[in-house]
Amino acid sequence: MSLDARMGALILELRRGGVTDARVLGAIETTPREVFLPDPFKARAYENVALPIGHHQTVSQPGVVGLMTQELDVTDRHKVLEIGTGSGYQAVILAKLCRRLYTVERHPELLAISEKRFAEMKLTNITAIAADGAGGWPEQAPFERILVAAAAADVPPVLFNQLAVGGIMILPIGLDEEDQRLTKVVRTEDGAETHDLGPTRFVPLVDGLAETGE
Ligand code: SAH
Repeated sequence: MSLDARMGALILELRRGGVTDARVLGAIETTPREVFLPDPFKARAYENVALPIGHHQTVSQPGVVGLMTQELDVTDRHKVLEIGTGSGYQAVILAKLCRRLYTVERHPELLAISEKRFAEMKLTNITAIAADGAGGWPEQAPFERILVAAAAADVPPVLFNQLAVGGIMILPIGLDEEDQRLTKVVRTEDGAETHDLGPTRFVPLVDGLAETGE
């Protein structure tokens, strides 16, 4: 099957899985996933599965990236924070839809590779740092949207406080990988509304900057 045909089949599968937003599908369709994968996994780029990216981390399933992005309801007026840059795949899709993306990764080596990809793809609205995302990015807060790509025990108050009123945060909640829920939190004038988006499976948020070789 040609690359175009494989991408077409993936987009069809995502549509069937409930990703119907044309802007989100457009961002996925124009983002070649093989670019974000190590050589041994490039051939599987258009399968709707999570794949290893090194350092015991994975790039999420395209279906999950699609659903999270759709639920985040991003527009070109939004400043967005992502915690867990990983391969940069989700970051690129967000950057195509938002005004400016701030993304934080605790593995400096993963971040360096992702930043190279952002430059090669000429995406100039991404600012990335190697840091512990638990602290968010206070200098740039508030954010209209926050996406957390690693699981927490509960909604981290530090990140919630960096969300604008009316803003949306999507994150996996639950430290047991077998029992996590994708969760949508909307910040209201006087608190939060929480919506359950179903079962999911993410690596956990880990404290601190990664050591070399970790
Ligand atoms: N969005 C990524 C997939 C992320 S996998 C992609 O599209 O490829 C989760 C990522 O979160 C990993 O790269 C991991 O190193 C990172 N991570 C885990 N805990 C973190 C923390 N406290 N701060 C920042 N990044 C973290």
